[in-house]
Amino acid sequence: MRPLTVIANWKMNGSLASNASWVKSVCRGMEQGMPAGRKYAVCVPSPYLAQCGQLIEDYSPAFLSLGAQDVSMYAAGAYTGEVAAAMLKELGCSFVIVGHSERRQYHRETDEHVAEKALQVLDNGMTPVICVGESADERNSGREVEVVRGQISKQVAVLQDRLADCLIAYEPIWAIGTGKVASADLAQDMHRAIRLQLAEFDEDVASHVGILYGGSVKPDNAVELFAMPDIDGGLIGGASLNPQDFLAICQA
Ligand code: PEP
Repeated sequence: MRPLTVIANWKMNGSLASNASWVKSVCRGMEQGMPAGRKYAVCVPSPYLAQCGQLIEDYSPAFLSLGAQDVSMYAAGAYTGEVAAAMLKELGCSFVIVGHSERRQYHRETDEHVAEKALQVLDNGMTPVICVGESADERNSGREVEVVRGQISKQVAVLQDRLADCLIAYEPIWAIGTGKVASADLAQDMHRAIRLQLAEFDEDVASHVGILYGGSVKPDNAVELFAMPDIDGGLIGGASLNPQDFLAICQA
């Protein structure tokens, strides 16, 4: 049985004051009672990891885990501006997003980079959240499955059965931050396709990997999405900035 996992991605948002109020609200809300057997995390900008880690520790370590939004593909050394996986681990991270479409688009990350980053995360005892997804043009030209299969096959080639310790986030680019959520059926079809592709490699890996959906998830569409058999939770961008909306999605 795969646990439902809901992960907030703040992207490049936050401040010392707003972070403190968000963590307090979410942890207090979670203490009122959450559905059993689920996992929750918040991926914050790197400069706020220490602050948010401490806040989570103070309020509610049992419910909420800390995560990062990116990591270096290198372990250490002369890589100015980069953050190593060991540093994220030291700051208390449990999850690290790798290959978000915004990093692929604005920082030219390739599937090979993403796989190397995932390896660093695994080697340091954390869970990579590997993002894949097609653009609007790719879907409109009927190539969405081919595109996502290509992204997944690079991860399979490098990570092999260590994929069982990863999460995959299917995030159609046309749905990210646009308000155009994928219908539950459309998302389920792609999640199923990903799971079947993983099963071609190893059935055990396929049955263990959590596949999250990301792209304009809101409190009012989360219930239907999370009810799908191959949707194992969500990666939540914009809606996660509001603690009450994030809590509502966590309870969906
Ligand atoms: C994301 O950035 O991972 C995301 C899913 O964003 P949004 O929820 O705003 O579409």
